[in-house]
Amino acid sequence: MSERDLLMIPGPVEFDPEVLRALGAKTASHVAPEFISTFGRALKRLREVCLAPSAQPFVVAGSGTLAMELAVANLVEPGERALVVNTGYFSDRMATLFERYGAEVVQVRCAPGEVPDVAEVERVLAGGRFKVMTATHVDTSTGVLAPVEALVKAAGRHGVLSVVDGVCATAGETFHQEAWGADVYLTASQKALGVPPGLALLTVSPRALDAWRSRRTPVRSLYADFGEWLPIMEAYEAGRAAYFATPAVNLVCALEVSLGQILREGMEARFARHRRVAHAFRAAWRALGLRMLPVSESVAAHTLSALYYPEGVDAALLGRVREQGVVLAGGLHPQLKARYFRVGHMNVVGPGEVLATVGAVERALAAAGHRAEPGAAVAAVQAELLAAR
Ligand code: PMP
Repeated sequence: MSERDLLMIPGPVEFDPEVLRALGAKTASHVAPEFISTFGRALKRLREVCLAPSAQPFVVAGSGTLAMELAVANLVEPGERALVVNTGYFSDRMATLFERYGAEVVQVRCAPGEVPDVAEVERVLAGGRFKVMTATHVDTSTGVLAPVEALVKAAGRHGVLSVVDGVCATAGETFHQEAWGADVYLTASQKALGVPPGLALLTVSPRALDAWRSRRTPVRSLYADFGEWLPIMEAYEAGRAAYFATPAVNLVCALEVSLGQILREGMEARFARHRRVAHAFRAAWRALGLRMLPVSESVAAHTLSALYYPEGVDAALLGRVREQGVVLAGGLHPQLKARYFRVGHMNVVGPGEVLATVGAVERALAAAGHRAEPGAAVAAVQAELLAAR
C-alpha cells in the first residue's frame, strides 16, 4: 500500500496527522506528571464523547475484542442468562464470549441485512430472567445499524443490563448513553474514534458497576477484571499515577488528541457529518446500480457501506480499486462473504474522500465491464453534497 493510498475500510481508517504525531512522539514514563494529566483528560473526554456524564471510563491496551471481553467477564457469572441481539459476525463473537464465561445464552436473530424486531426482543426479555442484553450498534459484517435506543430502553424496562458494542459506531453514529440508559458502551480506537489500533475503551454506568460489585464469584480473567483497572482509572483521573499493567502510553497520548478534536467538532455535528457522507455515498451507489446489503436505508449504517457486487463482477474489483489508489474491504459475513464488499467512511471523511473513492469505484467497475454512465456517480455525489450544504 502506498502512503498516498486512501484507506477506506471499516477500520483501521485514515487518521489525522496531529494524532499520528502524538503517537510518534517520544514515549513518556507512565508515571510522568505530563502523562498523568494527559491520561486523566482522555478519560474525562471519553465520558463526554459517549454522552455519559455519570459513567466510569476504562481505557485498556488491547483491541475491540478485549473491550467485549471486559464487559462480558465482569457482568456475568456462570449460570446467569444473557440475551444476544444478533445482527452478524460480531454478535456471534459476543455469544461465544458469554458461553466462554459460563453464561446461558439466548439469541434473537435475523437474516443478514435485517435488524431484529424490537417487539420480539421485548417479548424474550419479558419471559427470560436475563442479567444482561447485548446489541451491536453497527454490525461491521453487514453494514446494519441496529435500533439501539429502542433496544436499550426495552432492556431497562425489564431491569436487564444493556451492553452496546460501538466498535464500528462510537463517535460516528448518534448515541446518547446516559439519556438512553445504556449500561456499557464499548469500543476500540481504530475507527470513528480516530486513533490507530490498540486500545479497548468502555464507559460503564453506576448500575453496571454495582452489578459487578455484587458478584458472588471472582472475575475469571485477571487482565479483564474491573477490580484491577478501576483503581488505575480513578487514580489517573484524580491526577495520580497507579500501576496494574503498563498503559499504552503513546496510544493514550494520541487518544487524548483525537478526543479533543472530536469534542471541538461537537458530537451532534460529527454525527451529522457522518450522515451527510453516508448519504453522498448512497447517491453514488444508486447511480452505479449497486445494491446495499442492509435491506433498507433506514437500517443502513452511516459509518460504512456494504454492497453486493453487481452481476458479472467479483472480488477482483477490490484489486482494481486499489490500482486507482483506494483500499476497500471484502465481505465478512460467513453466509455472504464472497458476494459483497465494504467501504468504510469514518473519522476524517469529507467531500474529498467521498469523491476520490466513488471515482475510483466507478473507474474500476468500468474496467470490470460493469455498464454505468461515466461520471454519473460522481455527479450524484456532487448533487447530494451541494443539496446538503
Ligand atoms: N465489534 C465490532 C462491531 C467490530 O467491528 C469489531 C472489529 N471490526 C470488533 C467488535 C472487534 O474489534 P477488534 O478487531 O479491534 O478486536
